[in-house]
Amino acid sequence: MIPVPGYEGRRVAVFGLGRSGITAARALQAGGAIPILWDDGVSGRMQAQAEGFAVEDLTVADWSGFDTLVLSPGAPLTHPKPHWTVERARDAGAPVIGDIELFARAVAALPQDARPRVVAVTGTNGKSTTTALIGWVLKQAGLTVHVGGNIGIGVLALPAPAAGAVYVIEVSSYQLDLTTTFAPDVAILTNISPDHLDRHGGMDGYVAAKKRIFQAQRPDATALVGVDERWGREIAADLRGAGRSAVQVRTASSSTLAGEGVVRAAPGRIEIDEGAAIDLTAARSLPGRHNAQNAAFAYATARALGVSHDVAVQGLLSFPGLAHRMEAIGRIGPVRFINDSKATNADAARQALSSYPSVFWIAGGRAKDGGIDDLADLFPRIAKAYLIGEAAEAFAVALGETPHVVSTTMEAAVAAAARDAASAGGDQIVLLSPACASFDQYPDFEARGEAFRAAALNLGAAPETAS
Ligand code: ADP
Repeated sequence: MIPVPGYEGRRVAVFGLGRSGITAARALQAGGAIPILWDDGVSGRMQAQAEGFAVEDLTVADWSGFDTLVLSPGAPLTHPKPHWTVERARDAGAPVIGDIELFARAVAALPQDARPRVVAVTGTNGKSTTTALIGWVLKQAGLTVHVGGNIGIGVLALPAPAAGAVYVIEVSSYQLDLTTTFAPDVAILTNISPDHLDRHGGMDGYVAAKKRIFQAQRPDATALVGVDERWGREIAADLRGAGRSAVQVRTASSSTLAGEGVVRAAPGRIEIDEGAAIDLTAARSLPGRHNAQNAAFAYATARALGVSHDVAVQGLLSFPGLAHRMEAIGRIGPVRFINDSKATNADAARQALSSYPSVFWIAGGRAKDGGIDDLADLFPRIAKAYLIGEAAEAFAVALGETPHVVSTTMEAAVAAAARDAASAGGDQIVLLSPACASFDQYPDFEARGEAFRAAALNLGAAPETAS
């Protein structure tokens, strides 16, 4: 755990007692603060009480006694409307922050020579892959690395800072909105496409939240920006205008890719500034253009932290991959089963669909705005689609003439897709890349991916052995 100093003897309101709220309370208490906890739900309150924390009804509390509000990223700061605790805190003049900000303050409070280095990763897609990949590459280089934040373990639950250690932190837009002094040594924005707009009041608010990852960085710190989209290009231009040397990562194939501070990522290949190229074709867990982008970020991060070219490349090539992100589950003869359950929006599914010339595609769940309309240019790659969940009927309409069937459940979809792929003959791909949230049928995308895995294994899929 990372004790948070700076609030000694002061009362700090902590609202939202999920994992990150309770961890924040522990970290504050360890630093000498007096956390006062509350949640609308009774189970979080009971857990807090069982741990001996002060639990007080914040709806009737005297807010003038609070120094700060530590808000869960699950509670809205601004949209659709500010959470009631935010309004109370503002009336009382108390700042509203989150766990990433507490982490930032804990790090900043250390003497310079005892400070660990911090890498932060945000973006609409690719955060977890990039975060895990960076963690892996740095570990291969022999560094002491702690990976967490929005992935795996909450940031304040990571081991206490020590000189020489590197924290690799995934941060969501909600968490970034709750930061003011977070100053990572390397900050990465993978890409931006419309997502979570309800919570940010539209695209401008979402982009502004993402941009905060660079806001408090020191002028000599490293900024890595994906510039395939207009928003990333604008942010990179702003950073450069402010005298920062933002490294731009592009995946588009065009002649405009040359230039200072540009890394180009193409499937199986990264081209770096100096004209050198890295061949990624042997990296089994990094297929596709989007993974080349993730690899480019990881390579640039490793280099910025002093890792040699050769060691960084070795790390990329040996990355074992993350579950549920284009994860190879196994094969039945020439039919491979790929689990991309983490593709919860159309843009993420686009990456998977465009990685294969032809797929038997399982999609559906709880649709996001726009559904799969934006994927129409990829429909010719779909040998047949198997539609599940709430979105099935709407996706059937969107697919039009593209072969499809409403399978409703995962089990039926996998069985039908496996049968059709086998009778098509030759190498075939059965791909789960739902372009939807999972909550209509599963607790989370992990459970959905596990259901896909179980269905494939039940049909006799055998895990592929590494070559
Ligand atoms: P996040 O943590 O941002 O949700 P993940 O690394 O878990 O991102 O990947 C989520 C989905 O997005 C996966 O389906 C994956 O195929 C796709 N994806 C991964 N990296 C990228 C990228 N750089 N650009 C676009 N999509 C990506």
